[in-house]
Amino acid sequence: MVLIPARMSEAEEQRWVGVMLEKLAAQENKRMLGDAELAERAEQLSDQYLGGRARPASVRWVTNQNTRWGSCTPAEGSIRLSHRLQGMPEYVVDYVLVHELAHLLVPGHGPRFWRLLESYPRTERARGYLEGVVAADRLPHLPAARSE
Ligand SMILES: [Zn+2]
Repeated sequence: MVLIPARMSEAEEQRWVGVMLEKLAAQENKRMLGDAELAERAEQLSDQYLGGRARPASVRWVTNQNTRWGSCTPAEGSIRLSHRLQGMPEYVVDYVLVHELAHLLVPGHGPRFWRLLESYPRTERARGYLEGVVAADRLPHLPAARSE
């Protein structure tokens, strides 16, 4: 909600709305990591949770990935994250990054893989969040709640 103080002239009002929209856009940009920041984040997470052993050659967002949150090609050292993660909590994006980084070291989802993921403290919470998103997607479409 954007409150406009009473008794503002039309010109003042327009300027005010412009300032508020700019602020909102700035917040939006801050929340959304670009590819460069994503690669930087992956490097930090690798250092923090995987002893810096995973060194991806590229990390980027993709929009053509609707059935997987993340994927990687170990031979190329490339990691791709679904744009659907954008706007989700940071710990969820971090989890998917750590998950794909770990795949650069261990393919598949065997005990060795999950042992690597244990170092990331919010693995279970992030997996629960993503399961919840998938479950919500499958719910029948409910009529929107009235908001008054
Ligand atoms: Zn995996």
